[in-house]
Amino acid sequence: MNLTTYSTDSAGLQAFYEAIINAHETYAPVEKFGKYDFKKVDSLAGCDPDSPIPQTMSVKSLFFPKSAKVMKYTATSEGTELSDTTEDPLAGKRVVLGVKHCDARGLQVLDAVYKWDYIDTDYEKRRENTILISPRCDQAVTHCFCTSLDYDVENLDAMDVAVIHVGDGKVYLQARTEKGKNFLKENNKGLSAANGAAKEEMKKQYDKFAGSFRLSMDYKEINEKMQDKFDSPAFEEVSSNCVSCNTCAFVCPTCHCFKISDEKIRDKGVRYKSYDSCNNVYFTLMAGGHNPRPVKYRRWRQRSMHKFVYYKERFGVNLCIGCGKCTISCPVNISIFEVVNKVVNTMQE
Ligand code: SF4
Ligand code: SF4
Repeated sequence: MNLTTYSTDSAGLQAFYEAIINAHETYAPVEKFGKYDFKKVDSLAGCDPDSPIPQTMSVKSLFFPKSAKVMKYTATSEGTELSDTTEDPLAGKRVVLGVKHCDARGLQVLDAVYKWDYIDTDYEKRRENTILISPRCDQAVTHCFCTSLDYDVENLDAMDVAVIHVGDGKVYLQARTEKGKNFLKENNKGLSAANGAAKEEMKKQYDKFAGSFRLSMDYKEINEKMQDKFDSPAFEEVSSNCVSCNTCAFVCPTCHCFKISDEKIRDKGVRYKSYDSCNNVYFTLMAGGHNPRPVKYRRWRQRSMHKFVYYKERFGVNLCIGCGKCTISCPVNISIFEVVNKVVNTMQE
């Protein structure tokens, strides 16, 4: 697609964001107790779309909510009556500001599974109705490794509009999808068409950003070597400190396991769909009592193999976008980056 690029400055960008918030239902990163999560906002004052700090939670919760009510019901000896089955607070047209590039890519990875054998129509509608506006980071933090993975971070089309700060207060806004192109045309408040210097300046910004990473891996090598590591003793070593809290999966932009649970008092109940994780000991517990993953190393093996072998085989992409959120949030400092590197570099008997 022919990319449309506009130019503005820091004040112009703030005015652009303000105009969006005034005209559209808008979500953006909101800080609470030092952590950022995406919330509905009605002014720029309460949010920070260009925060350099990685958001703790992923934008996936606007498409796959952390815990959502599926329905209410009343179950008596006369039968079961359902209520509240149709409401979806996330289905309307909306704009999300401040989605990091890696997080936006996470949604592309999730699309593969949500549009596979069973189409999740709630997810599909939320995706169709959302415009993603995504600032490119200036600097990698210690846990980031997005530039090592199987996507082109610089030219990503996972967001509708990329926002690139090139220094001295100068900002470019680039449409990366048809939806983004139309959105910028309709919401062009104070933006000017970019001149010939834009491409070079954006490239320079990217090169500086790419040069700031401490972590790098060869994902092709990981994909290939992990295939033979199912019986690696390294899984036991890397998982021994894990307290099976599931946090890594809850914050991960690409993890998508869920559970359906009923909370019921007497004849009235509510059914929820909530995040779950393959690190949860009960995740694979079967009705007859058998559990194929009763120990931590098997659960961590599943997590690693799913991310770097099984998903790749089925959908052609890794189930990891290198955001490092899992590492930042893990209470015992386990890093997926270290885990897979350790596994591929440990010799098997
Ligand atoms: S966040 Fe850390 S401790 Fe918790 S399940 Fe994940 S790896 Fe284990
Ligand atoms: S596994 Fe960790 S680094 Fe990979 S996408 Fe999930 S949270 Fe990010």
